[in-house]
Amino acid sequence: MSETDCIFCRIVAGEIPAVKVSETERVLAFNDLNPQAPVHVLVIPKHHHGDVSTLAAADPGLLAEMIEVADVVSMERADGQYRLIFNNGPRAGQSVFHVHAHVLAGAELGWTPA
Ligand code: 5GP
Ligand code: ZN
Repeated sequence: MSETDCIFCRIVAGEIPAVKVSETERVLAFNDLNPQAPVHVLVIPKHHHGDVSTLAAADPGLLAEMIEVADVVSMERADGQYRLIFNNGPRAGQSVFHVHAHVLAGAELGWTPA
Protein backbone atom coordinates (compact mmCIF):
# COMPACT_ATOMS: atom_id res chain seq x y z
CA MET A 1 0.00 0.00 0.00
CA SER A 2 1.24 3.46 -0.84
CA GLU A 3 -0.39 6.67 0.32
CA THR A 4 0.08 9.64 -1.99
CA ASP A 5 -0.06 12.19 0.82
CA CYS A 6 2.45 10.29 3.01
CA ILE A 7 5.94 11.80 2.87
CA PHE A 8 7.68 8.51 3.66
CA CYS A 9 5.71 6.65 0.96
CA ARG A 10 6.83 9.41 -1.38
CA ILE A 11 10.46 8.90 -0.32
CA VAL A 12 10.07 5.16 -1.05
CA ALA A 13 8.64 6.06 -4.47
CA GLY A 14 11.56 8.41 -5.18
CA GLU A 15 9.27 11.44 -5.37
CA ILE A 16 10.99 13.20 -2.43
CA PRO A 17 14.80 13.03 -2.17
CA ALA A 18 16.46 11.37 0.81
CA VAL A 19 19.99 10.26 1.64
CA LYS A 20 19.59 6.48 1.61
CA VAL A 21 21.96 4.55 3.85
CA SER A 22 20.67 0.98 3.63
CA GLU A 23 17.95 -0.95 1.86
CA THR A 24 16.45 -4.41 1.61
CA GLU A 25 13.54 -5.65 -0.45
CA ARG A 26 11.06 -4.53 2.21
CA VAL A 27 12.91 -1.94 4.32
CA LEU A 28 14.56 1.43 3.64
CA ALA A 29 16.91 3.44 5.87
CA PHE A 30 17.73 7.11 5.25
CA ASN A 31 19.20 10.05 7.13
CA ASP A 32 16.84 12.11 9.26
CA LEU A 33 16.48 15.66 7.92
CA ASN A 34 17.02 17.11 11.40
CA PRO A 35 19.64 14.87 13.09
CA GLN A 36 19.72 14.65 16.88
CA ALA A 37 22.92 12.56 17.09
CA PRO A 38 26.03 11.98 14.91
CA VAL A 39 24.13 9.04 13.39
CA HIS A 40 20.38 9.64 13.11
CA VAL A 41 18.81 7.31 10.60
CA LEU A 42 15.16 6.52 10.04
CA VAL A 43 14.29 2.91 9.24
CA ILE A 44 10.93 2.35 7.57
CA PRO A 45 9.02 -0.47 5.91
CA LYS A 46 8.44 0.26 2.24
CA HIS A 47 4.77 -0.61 2.63
CA HIS A 48 2.67 1.88 4.53
CA HIS A 49 1.77 1.08 8.14
CA GLY A 50 0.73 3.97 10.35
CA ASP A 51 2.55 3.17 13.55
CA VAL A 52 4.55 0.46 15.28
CA SER A 53 1.54 -1.07 17.05
CA THR A 54 -0.26 -1.51 13.74
CA LEU A 55 2.86 -2.98 12.13
CA ALA A 56 3.50 -5.39 15.02
CA ALA A 57 -0.04 -6.74 14.70
CA ALA A 58 -0.03 -6.86 10.88
CA ASP A 59 3.48 -8.16 10.15
CA PRO A 60 5.81 -8.86 13.10
CA GLY A 61 8.43 -10.31 10.74
CA LEU A 62 8.69 -6.97 8.98
CA LEU A 63 9.21 -5.25 12.33
CA ALA A 64 12.06 -7.69 13.00
CA GLU A 65 13.53 -6.87 9.57
CA MET A 66 13.54 -3.19 10.51
CA ILE A 67 15.61 -4.02 13.59
CA GLU A 68 18.03 -6.09 11.48
CA VAL A 69 18.52 -3.02 9.24
CA ALA A 70 19.06 -0.85 12.34
CA ASP A 71 21.80 -3.31 13.39
CA VAL A 72 23.48 -3.07 9.98
CA VAL A 73 23.30 0.74 9.95
CA SER A 74 24.78 1.02 13.44
CA MET A 75 27.60 -1.38 12.61
CA GLU A 76 28.45 0.42 9.37
CA ARG A 77 28.19 3.95 10.77
CA ALA A 78 29.06 3.56 14.46
CA ASP A 79 30.08 0.80 16.88
CA GLY A 80 26.97 -1.35 16.70
CA GLN A 81 25.38 0.26 19.75
CA TYR A 82 22.35 2.43 19.25
CA ARG A 83 19.16 3.80 20.70
CA LEU A 84 16.00 2.76 18.87
CA ILE A 85 12.97 5.03 19.26
CA PHE A 86 9.45 4.57 18.01
CA ASN A 87 7.21 7.52 18.75
CA ASN A 88 3.79 5.88 18.84
CA GLY A 89 1.02 8.48 18.65
CA PRO A 90 1.04 12.28 18.51
CA ARG A 91 1.26 12.78 22.28
CA ALA A 92 4.43 10.65 22.21
CA GLY A 93 5.90 12.93 19.55
CA GLN A 94 4.93 11.08 16.38
CA SER A 95 4.62 13.59 13.54
CA VAL A 96 4.87 11.33 10.48
CA PHE A 97 2.24 8.59 10.40
CA HIS A 98 4.23 6.01 8.48
CA VAL A 99 5.99 3.84 11.04
CA HIS A 100 9.67 4.67 11.45
CA ALA A 101 12.40 3.67 13.87
CA HIS A 102 14.83 6.41 14.84
CA VAL A 103 18.34 4.91 15.06
CA LEU A 104 20.58 7.16 17.16
CA ALA A 105 24.26 6.30 17.49
CA GLY A 106 27.81 7.56 17.31
CA ALA A 107 27.97 9.31 20.69
CA GLU A 108 27.45 8.78 24.40
CA LEU A 109 23.70 9.18 24.59
CA GLY A 110 22.38 10.65 27.81
CA TRP A 111 18.99 9.65 29.09
CA THR A 112 16.43 12.37 28.41
CA PRO A 113 12.98 11.04 29.28
CA ALA A 114 10.97 13.96 27.89
P1 5GP B 1 8.52 11.54 14.50
O1 5GP B 1 8.40 12.89 15.16
O2 5GP B 1 7.28 11.23 13.67
O3 5GP B 1 8.90 10.43 15.41
O4 5GP B 1 9.75 11.65 13.51
C1 5GP B 1 9.66 12.18 12.23
C2 5GP B 1 11.07 12.44 11.78
O5 5GP B 1 11.05 12.58 10.38
C3 5GP B 1 11.68 13.70 12.36
O6 5GP B 1 12.86 13.36 13.08
C4 5GP B 1 11.96 14.57 11.14
O7 5GP B 1 13.18 15.26 11.23
C5 5GP B 1 11.99 13.55 10.02
N1 5GP B 1 11.52 14.05 8.75
C6 5GP B 1 10.36 14.75 8.50
N2 5GP B 1 10.25 14.99 7.19
C7 5GP B 1 11.34 14.45 6.59
C8 5GP B 1 11.78 14.38 5.22
O8 5GP B 1 11.13 14.87 4.29
N3 5GP B 1 12.96 13.76 5.00
C9 5GP B 1 13.70 13.19 6.00
N4 5GP B 1 14.85 12.60 5.65
N5 5GP B 1 13.30 13.23 7.29
C10 5GP B 1 12.15 13.85 7.57
ZN1 ZN C 1 3.42 5.92 4.03
